[in-house]
Amino acid sequence: MKEGNETKILKRLKELALLIEENNYYYHTLDKPLITDSEFDELIKENQLLEKKYPNLVLNKGPNSKIGVKIKNNFKKIKHKSQMYSLPNAFNRDDILEFDKRIRKFLKLKLSDKIEFLCEPKIDGLSINLFYKNGKLQSAGTRGDGLVGEDVTDNITSIKEINDNLKNNYPEFLELRGEIFMGKKDFNILNKNLSDKEKFANPRNAAAGSLRQLDVSISRSRPLKFIAHGIGESSKDYNSIENFYKNLKRWEIYPNKVSKICYEVDDIMQFYFEIDNMRSNFDYDIDGLVVKVNNFTNQKRLGYVGKNPRWAIALKFSSEKAKTKIKSIDLQVGRTGAITPVARLEPINIGGVIISNASLHNFDEINKKNININDMVEVERAGDVIPYVTKLIKKNNKKNNKINIPKFCPVCKSPAFKDVDEAVLRCSNKYECYSQKLGQIIHFISKKSLNIDGFGEKQAKLFFDLGIINKNEDIFELDKYKDKILTLDGWGKLSFSNLIESINKSKNITLEKFIYALGIRYIGEVNSELLASKFRNIDKIIVSINNRDQLENIDGLGPKAISSVIDYFSNKSNLKSVLKLNKILKISNSKNSTKNNYFTNKNLVFTGSLSSLSRDEAKYLAKTNGAKILSAISKNTDFLIMGKNSGTKLEKAKKLNINVIDEEEFLTKINQ
Ligand SMILES: [Zn+2]
Repeated sequence: MKEGNETKILKRLKELALLIEENNYYYHTLDKPLITDSEFDELIKENQLLEKKYPNLVLNKGPNSKIGVKIKNNFKKIKHKSQMYSLPNAFNRDDILEFDKRIRKFLKLKLSDKIEFLCEPKIDGLSINLFYKNGKLQSAGTRGDGLVGEDVTDNITSIKEINDNLKNNYPEFLELRGEIFMGKKDFNILNKNLSDKEKFANPRNAAAGSLRQLDVSISRSRPLKFIAHGIGESSKDYNSIENFYKNLKRWEIYPNKVSKICYEVDDIMQFYFEIDNMRSNFDYDIDGLVVKVNNFTNQKRLGYVGKNPRWAIALKFSSEKAKTKIKSIDLQVGRTGAITPVARLEPINIGGVIISNASLHNFDEINKKNININDMVEVERAGDVIPYVTKLIKKNNKKNNKINIPKFCPVCKSPAFKDVDEAVLRCSNKYECYSQKLGQIIHFISKKSLNIDGFGEKQAKLFFDLGIINKNEDIFELDKYKDKILTLDGWGKLSFSNLIESINKSKNITLEKFIYALGIRYIGEVNSELLASKFRNIDKIIVSINNRDQLENIDGLGPKAISSVIDYFSNKSNLKSVLKLNKILKISNSKNSTKNNYFTNKNLVFTGSLSSLSRDEAKYLAKTNGAKILSAISKNTDFLIMGKNSGTKLEKAKKLNINVIDEEEFLTKINQ
């Protein structure tokens, strides 16, 4: 009897170890947590409890003291002065060629014009933002969501490379960006001195776990290091990254010693292979090469697309792979109705992370690769991409039968369909399918949307199944169900009032986050930002669906996204829900709204070819100064900007008495 019980406990401890490790990876590396922070805490608590009660069963490499345990979410929040962006990824020479081409086209450069690229190794650590005022370090914040991070000012005081008192010619204020990491040697020594239970899986986890400690004395005792790699807001302008790095050295702060200025794609690739070969000689883990336009004027001209700079890219090293067996294949129905097969794997360690789930992409892929349950497959994990099954290694299934492509949604049994140009199978019961509705609510409260602490998948499903919430807006009426919720397992007065408090906190939201939170198909973070900066309030977006032109005039918003927006707001129940939310929430304009320029809020049309800059750059410049770009002349047009060889638009503008200005005047006015 007792033995049977112990077997059960041991099994649970092993399960917990896997769950905790995997969730750590999803949270910290992929930034796509599978569960909420409080659910994660529950796993940790359960593990601790079992370990305390059954000390003889404690696993050698249990999760107890790995990073999760000590990381709590009550760090003070800190707002960055300027956004911390993230680098888009490149994987091969073609991607770099494309990157170079895009930049040349945007800046309207000739083939003979040289672009300077500064290339340096991409350290696998944590980005940090250091704020200096009058040469004194004021604060240190983690990246967080790019706008707001966690305040770790007290945790970094013992890092030698962070000089908290600059001398010689420092700017009045400066945001300095860099990477916090742990060296491989230091990592090995640290791990040697930690008990088996406390050991970290890899240097990155060790750095993250050491930095994000509420007990700052632990952070200070850990061998963390810092390398500078960028600049945020600053009171002084520098010509180039190279020039900025020179200044840094005078302030006794150091960028990577290994870096190179390259002019050609081939130079970049050669340096990339050099670095890849030298990888094991570095005392820190690197996962690729960062390629940045060196000149700050060009960086500024190139600007940003959503969260990515146009002027930088991370060329990644190839990913890590491992072989394992598929235990089962589950079908998941997502928020947008996508029916996706997910492989449940025999847990496997890939580059220091235990993986037990991997994407199978779609049914065409599975059948093309001839993959089925029990087969041995290769699984790949590449940094911040969700692990996926790459190929079949060995068939174990004698029958060799193919996976049947479902004809119906596995959840609501509605017919499944495929769009002509898509590989993804979808449930046709849009807006009503159980999984789509629940998925939408989970998306609405998730980290990148309303970001409600302590409210995740588990709670959403519980309340949804009980009929307490059926739509997004019901979340704000949970109070009505207080008595009912308090009778539920695991809910007490304190946890309930904590939840209500975080729900109330989430009511202040930017327009772009709100649009993103609605989960409209094809409207991700980038498109949400496009819609937000064009319309500035939700009412105008709703009205825009009666005037497709307005949507079509948004640069970068594709036809599928446009149709999807129209479809979404044409649905009466969606519309009702959005109008209700607009009353409940405090939706604010996120940025650019304060900029005031000659062209702010004016409608601009471009015609003809410009000589000193590309059409794309001119539009980007106008938009960042608050102008609206239209594609055709109408009586609503304020200015026609005329390049060489202007055609019918010029005639039409003259007829309608619209201000016509040339390139020179446009540039003078916009730079005023
Ligand atoms: Zn369905």
